[in-house]
Amino acid sequence: MIDCIIIGSGTAGVSAALTLKANGKDFMLLGSPALSEKIEKAESIRNYPGLSNVSGKGFVSALKEQLQETEIAITEEKATGVYALNGKFGVATQKGNYYESKTVVLCCGVEAVKTIDGEAEFMGRGVSFCATCDGALYKGKTIAVLCTSKRLEHEISYLADFAKKVYLIPIYKPVEIDGDNIEIVRKMPIKIEGKTRVERLIFKDGEMAIDGLFSLRESQPPTTLINGLETENGHVRVSRNMQTNIDGLFAAGDCTGRPYQYAVAAGEGNVAAFSVNEFCKK
Ligand code: FAD
Repeated sequence: MIDCIIIGSGTAGVSAALTLKANGKDFMLLGSPALSEKIEKAESIRNYPGLSNVSGKGFVSALKEQLQETEIAITEEKATGVYALNGKFGVATQKGNYYESKTVVLCCGVEAVKTIDGEAEFMGRGVSFCATCDGALYKGKTIAVLCTSKRLEHEISYLADFAKKVYLIPIYKPVEIDGDNIEIVRKMPIKIEGKTRVERLIFKDGEMAIDGLFSLRESQPPTTLINGLETENGHVRVSRNMQTNIDGLFAAGDCTGRPYQYAVAAGEGNVAAFSVNEFCKK
C-alpha cells in the first residue's frame, strides 16, 4: 500500500508532493495537469518569496517544471469519496478507480461560489458532484447543472448524452457548449426543494421542476468527500501539524482557512508532508 494520496494539485498539493518525494515516500497526486485555476488566474503575484512579480501562468510553468524535474506525475482524476477503514484510507475517483493509502492529505482548495441551500441536504438524493459517477442515473430525465468552470464543460456534454433536458447554470465565461437539449439559464438559484428527493429549483422570481442537480465545481466542500470531518466556518479544522480530527488524514492550503495565500498553501503542504512522514513511522 502506498504511503499517501494527495488530493489537489494547487500550491499546497504540489508542495506536499515535493516534500514527500524528498523524503522517499510513495504517493499519488490527484488533480489536474493545469495544476490550479486559482494560480492560472492571478494577473501578477508579488508576495511569493523568490519570485518577483510573476504572472499566474508563469508560476504554473515554474511549478510544472519542478514537478517534471523531480519526476512527480499528476494522476488526472478527481476524488469523489475518501473512506477511513481499519487504519487505512480508500479514495474513490470520478473515473471509477479506487486507491488505498496509509494517509491522505486534502489540498482541495475552496470554491469561491457558495453552495445553494439544500445542496448538502439532498446530496445522494438528487444532488451529485460527479457527472461520470451518477450521469447514467438521469437517463431521459430533466436535470440542472451548476458549473463553476469552463474546464468542466466536458462533464456537461457527458450529462447531456443521458438527460432529456439540461438546464445549464454557468458561473463562468465564456460558455462554449451547446446542444439541442441544453438550455442556458442566466440566473442563480437560491434553494433546492423536494420531499424526499430533489424536485425543484427555486429562483427569486420563480421555480423550475427538475429530477436532479449536478454541482460541478473545481473544489467541492471537503465534508462531502469524507464523513465525520470536523470543520469550522466552512474550513477543515486542523492542528498545527495539519492533522484533522481523523487519524492519518491531513489538510493544507485554502481548505484549512484564511488567509488564502500561495505562501501559506506551500508552507502548510510542507508541514502536512512531514506529518505524513512521522505518521508512517508509527
Ligand atoms: P488551489 O490553488 O485552489 O488548488 C486546489 C486544487 O485541488 C485545484 O487544482 C482543484 O481542481 C483540485 N481539487 C479540488 N477538489 C479535488 C478533488 N476532489 N480531487 C482532485 N483534485 C481536486 N495568493 C497570493 O498569495 N498572492 C496573490 O497574488 C494571489 N492572487 C490571487 C489571484 C486570484 C485571481 C485568485 C483567485 C487567488 C489569488 N491568490 C493569491 C490566492 C491563491 O490562489 C490561493 O491561496 C492558493 O491557490 C491556494 O492553494 P491551494 O493549493 O490551497 O488551492
